[in-house]
Amino acid sequence: MNLSDLTFNPKKCFIGGKWVHSASGETIPLLNPSTGETICEISRGNKTDIDLSVTEARKAYEGEWGKFTAIMRGRVLVKMSQLVLEKVDYLAELEAIDVGKPLKQAKADAIALGRYLEFYGGAADKIHGETIPYLDGYTVYTLREAHGVTGHIVPWNYPMQIIGRSVGAALAMGNAIVLKPAEEACLTALAFAEIAREAGIPKGAINVVPGFGEEAGASLSSHAGINHISFTGSVKVGSLVQAAAAGNVVPVTLELGGKSPQIVFEDANLTNALPFLVNAGIQNAGQTCSASSRILVHESIYDNVSRMMAKKYEALIVGSAIDDLDVGPLISERQKDIVSGFIKEGRDLVKVAEGNIAQNANNKGYFVLPTLFGKVPSNHKLAQEEIFGPVQTLIPFKDEDEAIAIANGTDYGLVASIWTNDGSRQMRLAKKIDTGQVFINNYGAGGGVELPFGGVGKSGHGREKGFEALYGFSKLKTVAAYHG
Ligand code: NAD
Repeated sequence: MNLSDLTFNPKKCFIGGKWVHSASGETIPLLNPSTGETICEISRGNKTDIDLSVTEARKAYEGEWGKFTAIMRGRVLVKMSQLVLEKVDYLAELEAIDVGKPLKQAKADAIALGRYLEFYGGAADKIHGETIPYLDGYTVYTLREAHGVTGHIVPWNYPMQIIGRSVGAALAMGNAIVLKPAEEACLTALAFAEIAREAGIPKGAINVVPGFGEEAGASLSSHAGINHISFTGSVKVGSLVQAAAAGNVVPVTLELGGKSPQIVFEDANLTNALPFLVNAGIQNAGQTCSASSRILVHESIYDNVSRMMAKKYEALIVGSAIDDLDVGPLISERQKDIVSGFIKEGRDLVKVAEGNIAQNANNKGYFVLPTLFGKVPSNHKLAQEEIFGPVQTLIPFKDEDEAIAIANGTDYGLVASIWTNDGSRQMRLAKKIDTGQVFINNYGAGGGVELPFGGVGKSGHGREKGFEALYGFSKLKTVAAYHG
């Protein structure tokens, strides 16, 4: 891609319907993870830019955007969806160079963004309050209203999908948005702002301020003019965001990390399971909150599953995102060091298999070979901590009770899957596994626009995606009228 193809200036923020330089005029270099080269400079937004964005968002909420009916909001979201779908290849290429995501995966993310906007556009006028039977002489009903100005802090791993699910739902309910994309990858967030402008969204309804987390992000999460915060990212920063929001008594949705298990019982259809077992670990080079980094296997089929997964791993090729191979680079040198550190921590374990590097891979790219470890004790660091890289652990179990104990035995609870044809076992485990989503004989890493998503424990709280997100991005008012 040629940067002259960009429909916006990446050095600017989008505030109050205009592209403007950050107040400081300072910039941050944006790196291509496949080559280590600088793609362009992005603006280093800070408190001044966040203050201005919140003011512009408030004006929009109290002005033109606030007057949009639910039908009008739905239409503008559908228009945005159409524009996204017309620009899928452009958006996918931006995401590939920025995030290092192989083109096919980046394209799937762009299509998902279009689908989120379509879903929330269609849903905008279908959320309503209810009437409540009460005392004689009363009519009581509830109103679903926007929070006002919502803050959205998103990470670098799935910018388009996360913007789709949080900003899409918040706009559908009539909120005005201040979005802080990640400093490591924000081109599609800026492209999204331009698409919203093109679709005719009123000025100030969406504001996008790139910048560092400790500057722009912290200013947003502690801002007294924000009425709700949606944060997606690490546990450490999530707890800081929640503490900052508590200072203003503002509700927060936290979508954090995971250590998601897939549990393979002795009667599982392994041919069906195999692609899910591996893909859920290596998709986006393992940098997926719902990556499945723990594969729990019944001891009677352990050797077979280990052999089958090893064969898949040995065929994996890692290389440049634009070459569209099986696995791309990690987002940064820092992330590469963290993941390499975890692989070193596995030196006492059985390394079952690893993938291969493409011959033409740039030696400055942040590549790590996908690695599968076997017979990992469930209390080992690799089986407990989020790795956020293409590393999976195989953990044998003896029986159902042990499988449940291991599955529930981490600080996280985001996603799990159960591979078995025993219907009673499926129902039993779906209840006993403590996660936000349970899949039976499939696995949905990152997918499912319609499916409510979120965690328990250190995976966070609140739900995004599906209709459920619309309740989170609105508040309920009860009206009790006495008329005698
Ligand atoms: P991170 O927490 O470092 O950064 C996420 C965002 O927070 C970025 O925009 C960053 O600029 C901002 N930020 C950083 N410091 C801040 C501060 N002090 N105040 C306010 N904002 C601040 O996370 P990361 O390393 O970029 O992303 C990886 C993590 O995100 C992983 O743990 C992963 O599991 C999680 N994640 C979760 C989901 C989900 O839906 N549950 C999705 C994607 C990623």
